[in-house]
Amino acid sequence: MKPEPELYPLLSVEAALEKVLAMFHPLEAERVPVLETLGRVLAEDVIATGDIPPHANTAMDGYAVQSADLAGAGPESPKRLRVIENLAAGYVATRRVTPGTAIRIMTGAPLPEGADAVIPFEETHQDGEFVDCFAEMRVGANVRLAGEDVRAGERTLARGTHIRPQEIGMLAALGYGEVAVIRRPRVAILATGDELVDIDMPLLPGKIRNANSYSNAAQVLQCGGLPLMLGIARDTVDDLTAKIHAGLAQGADLLLTSGGVSVGDFDVVKKVLAAEGEISFWRVRMKPGKPLAFGYITAEVNGVPHTVPLLGMPGNPVSAMVSFELFARPAILTMLGVTDLRRPTLEAILDQAIPHKDDRRHYVRVRLERRPDGAEADPRFHAVLTGEQGSGILNSMVQSNGLAIIPEEWDHAPAGARVQVLPFETGLF
Ligand code: AMP
Ligand code: MG
Repeated sequence: MKPEPELYPLLSVEAALEKVLAMFHPLEAERVPVLETLGRVLAEDVIATGDIPPHANTAMDGYAVQSADLAGAGPESPKRLRVIENLAAGYVATRRVTPGTAIRIMTGAPLPEGADAVIPFEETHQDGEFVDCFAEMRVGANVRLAGEDVRAGERTLARGTHIRPQEIGMLAALGYGEVAVIRRPRVAILATGDELVDIDMPLLPGKIRNANSYSNAAQVLQCGGLPLMLGIARDTVDDLTAKIHAGLAQGADLLLTSGGVSVGDFDVVKKVLAAEGEISFWRVRMKPGKPLAFGYITAEVNGVPHTVPLLGMPGNPVSAMVSFELFARPAILTMLGVTDLRRPTLEAILDQAIPHKDDRRHYVRVRLERRPDGAEADPRFHAVLTGEQGSGILNSMVQSNGLAIIPEEWDHAPAGARVQVLPFETGLF
C-alpha cells in the first residue's frame, strides 16, 4: 500500500467529486405506494387514464343557466329564472336547464345538461322558486371544462421526474395507488475510533460519544437514502474489515466511515481500503475535510463478488458532516436517479474576516441574516460566523444555517466580501 501523502495529490473539490460520481449510477426501480415516492425519481412515464376533471363542472357556487337568458341583465334590469333543482358537488342533475330555468349548483358539481354558464350567488337574489340575475354571463363563464387540467392519454409525469408533494397529488388525482420509482440506496454508516462509545454506554475516562453516526444517518435520511447503522469499529484492521464486511452482507450500496483517515498511528481506514479494494483519492483541497479517502471495497457476498464504494470521512464532527454534504449527498442522489445535483446558493456579505485563510476552499459555518443595508432598497443577506470554526466544534454547526464558501484562490477573506452560501434548509429563505 501507499500511505504517503505525496502519493496522493491534493484534489480540488470538483475533481474529487468527479471521481466520486464516476462510481455511481441510478439503482433499479421498485413499485411503492404513492406516499412513499416523495423525494424519489419516477422510473416510468405516468399516462393519464382519463380526463381531469372528468366532467365539466362549476367553479363557483351559483346557478347553472343558459347564457342567452341573461342577455341584457344588469343591476337595474335583473332577469328572472325559475329554479328547478338544487345540486351539490358529487351528484348529477336529474333535470335539464331549458330557457327560463336555472339549477342552483355548488362548486365542483357537474354542469347540468342544457346549461352553458354559471352565475355566481353574488350576482343573484333568490326569491322562493325564482332567482333574479343581475349580470350577463358569457358562454362558459365559471365553468371548468372536462380535461382542462389533464387530458386522457397525455403523458402527465415523465420518467425521471423528481417527486414533490404536487406530483404526489397528481398521481392520486390520476388514480395511481402505486408507482415505479428508483429504490432508495442503502448507506452503511460506520464510526471508527477506540475512544467512541454509543449513546447508551457509560462515558468512561478517555471516551467520547459517537456523534457522527447519527448526524450522518440523519443526512442520509434527509437526502432519501436508507441508513444501515454498523456501529463503532475499533482502530484495528481486523475489526474495521469485519464491520465493513457486515455492511456489505446487509446489501450496502455505499459505505460511509468517519475517522481514521488522517496520518495518525491508528488511522486504519486507508489501510483497509487499500487491502480490500482500491483507494481512488485521499486528500481534497478543502477545510474542513482535507483528509478524505474514497475508493471501493471488493468482497464476496453469498458467493457473489461485490464492489461497493467507500467514502472515508474525517472523524471531526463538522468535517464528517461537511464531507457528507459535498460528496455523499451527490452520490446518494445519483443512485436515487436525481440528475440535478446542484444545491442553490445565496449571495451574502461576510460580516467579519475569515481567520487563518489558507489555499484550501473553506466552508465556514454561518448564520444568514437578512438586513437592510444603507442605500440598498432590498435587505441583503449577511453571513455571520457562528463562533469558533474548529472542525470539532459541532455547536457552531448547530448555530448555523449555512456554509459560506470561501474560494481556494482567495488568500484572505475580509469583512464585506461577497460570498456564496450553501443554505442547509432551502425552505427558509
Ligand atoms: P480521526 O479522524 O479519527 O483522527 O478523528 C478526529 C477527531 O474526531 C478525534 O478527536 C476523534 O475523537 C473525533 N471523532 C472521530 N469519530 C467521531 C465520532 N463518530 N463522533 C464524534 N467524534 C469523533
Ligand atoms: Mg480516529
